[in-house]
Amino acid sequence: MPETTSIVDIRATIVQTRSISPTVCIITLDCPAIAAAAKPGNFVNIKVSDATLPLLRRPFSIHNVRGSLLDIMVKSVGHGTSLLSDLATGSTVLVLGPLGTSFDIAGREFDTAILVSGGIGTAPMLFLEKILAAKGKKIINLIGGRSKEDLLAPGLSNCRFATDDGSEGFRGNVVELLGSGLPALRKEGTCKVFACGPNPMLKALARLCQANRTACDVSLESVMGCGIGICYGCSVEVKSPDGGLRTILLCQEGPVIDAELLAV
Ligand SMILES: Cc1cc2nc3c(=O)[nH]c(=O)nc-3n(C[C@H](O)[C@H](O)[C@H](O)COP(=O)(O)OP(=O)(O)OC[C@H]3O[C@@H](n4cnc5c(N)ncnc54)[C@H](O)[C@@H]3O)c2cc1C
Repeated sequence: MPETTSIVDIRATIVQTRSISPTVCIITLDCPAIAAAAKPGNFVNIKVSDATLPLLRRPFSIHNVRGSLLDIMVKSVGHGTSLLSDLATGSTVLVLGPLGTSFDIAGREFDTAILVSGGIGTAPMLFLEKILAAKGKKIINLIGGRSKEDLLAPGLSNCRFATDDGSEGFRGNVVELLGSGLPALRKEGTCKVFACGPNPMLKALARLCQANRTACDVSLESVMGCGIGICYGCSVEVKSPDGGLRTILLCQEGPVIDAELLAV
């Protein structure tokens, strides 16, 4: 978790909105305080309209930090995300953050970082890649989607793709793509996997990494309300040390958790 003292709720100006696919755009916010405190994997909770509806904020991963600017990658899936994507440059929104846990890049030693993402799960990977590259890590991006049109990789390097229909790259899902190369990669050096995407994908990935004794952090999804541990809207079950299950609030102990905690 970020230090609670570094969490701020500020009115930020939209500096730019750039479409990268028919349903996905990158929105740049002028957010100096959040940009300064953000770590890869953190998210922000945004009130997308000053109107009463939608009442609740919407959570978005921090896609990139550039000086005082913060980028988020937004996929329009409903009312809130459509409103946000359509806001004009110069509009302002309330932004609460940085929230949640971050990817553990200081933990167990590794030479190669394998960034695995599916669909809009690619959102946190650019910020993560930048920080890992600055630490001299070798980066491999494995990106999955249903078909070629669903693949998102803005700014990412060394990308390999997997599509369910085989329209680009490996035919199959991104976990199978990793499975086909992980044993060889492990022989070359120590690896750590960092992942974000649909929860079933992350569970399959957790099983693969466990079987290959490879460290893995996953950023989980859930419906979220307040983002600060009050509403209990984002409770999910994870493994407890006694082998049973325990409930965590994803906004507090997540969204990034050690994949070992996923009940696999
Ligand atoms: C920690 C976290 C980080 C996220 N990062 C991003 C991001 O970087 N980019 C991005 O585009 N989206 C991200 N999401 C998902 C995003 O918050 C939801 O898509 C958004 O809240 C939907 O709002 P809406 O009003 O448009 O949809 P609604 O009209 O509320 O719902 C439309 C559809 O989206 C589903 N939905 C609603 N909330 C979520 C949710 N939290 N996760 C998945 N599906 C949801 C609903 O079940 C429904 O099917 C993130 C979610 C979490 C929890």
